[in-house]
Amino acid sequence: MVSKVTVKAPSSTANLGPGFDVFGLAMDAFYDTVTLTKIKKGIKIITEDSIPANPEKNTAGLVVKNMKKKFKIKDGIGIKIKKGIPAGFGMGSSAASAAAAAVAFDKLFGLRLNGNSLVEFAGSGEKASAGTIHYDNVAASVLGGFVIVRTDPLDVIRIEPPENLRMCVAVPTIDVPKKKTKVSRGVIPKKIKLSDSILNLSNASAIVAGFLNKDTELIGNSIKDVIVEPARQRMIPGFSKVKQNAIRAGALGVTISGAGPSVIAFSKNSDSLKKICRAMSKGFTSSNTKCQTIICKPSKGAADKRKYYEKSSCCF
Ligand code: ADP
Repeated sequence: MVSKVTVKAPSSTANLGPGFDVFGLAMDAFYDTVTLTKIKKGIKIITEDSIPANPEKNTAGLVVKNMKKKFKIKDGIGIKIKKGIPAGFGMGSSAASAAAAAVAFDKLFGLRLNGNSLVEFAGSGEKASAGTIHYDNVAASVLGGFVIVRTDPLDVIRIEPPENLRMCVAVPTIDVPKKKTKVSRGVIPKKIKLSDSILNLSNASAIVAGFLNKDTELIGNSIKDVIVEPARQRMIPGFSKVKQNAIRAGALGVTISGAGPSVIAFSKNSDSLKKICRAMSKGFTSSNTKCQTIICKPSKGAADKRKYYEKSSCCF
């Protein structure tokens, strides 16, 4: 009988431009590690990182609480969280803890849940940080690769990314508001023009075609969003310059990573990655903002086992 399980879950970028709340991509930039241990009673979080220790307010804690209730588990559970992903910078930090917790819980109690169910439980934890449930980051972090999320009912489609896809993530050193996701959702327009919706839909469709055909160039040059990015870019100092510089340095496409403030550039050319990073840093410097840059590629998920994908909509 297993009494302790450790699972690692990757960082992720959500939206990829036009796929707001729908697209996610797991990235090997950072990982969270969650260890679940059977204890006598209750749910106890142990962490040295500055995240909430109250299970209701911690994404991993809330996942464990919800799964414990659903599967009528009487044991108490200790949750040890080691954060590798900086929280609140648009790299799915809160989601990775939730993803690792869902997969670890599944293993600890031998539940053998499928991919969709794991994503559903992991998503339920996002309520602790974002106030609402959304699945783009957790789906990428649980399943790895590129994901398309359909809701009502939840149905996640996973596609293996092309081998040569690379990303540069520029993380500005700025203070992020405590309820950043809520704040950045608040600036998105409630009504949009039909012509804008058509533009975004065409680019989102091209991104999916790019992943299916392993066409990195098509993915990169379809990262164009005329709805959410214009509304959110005001929250990122120097965004236009960062984007312009990255494109000039050879990036195929550039956008805000998730709810920001990190900016992500897509490329297929390993040689130009350092140049793109430098160009993005210079863009931030022009607004007196420092930044850290990371070169990364797509990652496997926390549940990187084929059996987890069974009964999910499809998987390539
Ligand atoms: P990200 O862009 O990293 O996904 P979010 O806005 O979703 O950021 O979440 C960051 C906020 O979520 C932090 O303020 C933090 O207090 C809260 N939070 C709750 N649980 C966790 C967790 N396990 N890991 C990281 N952040 C968490």
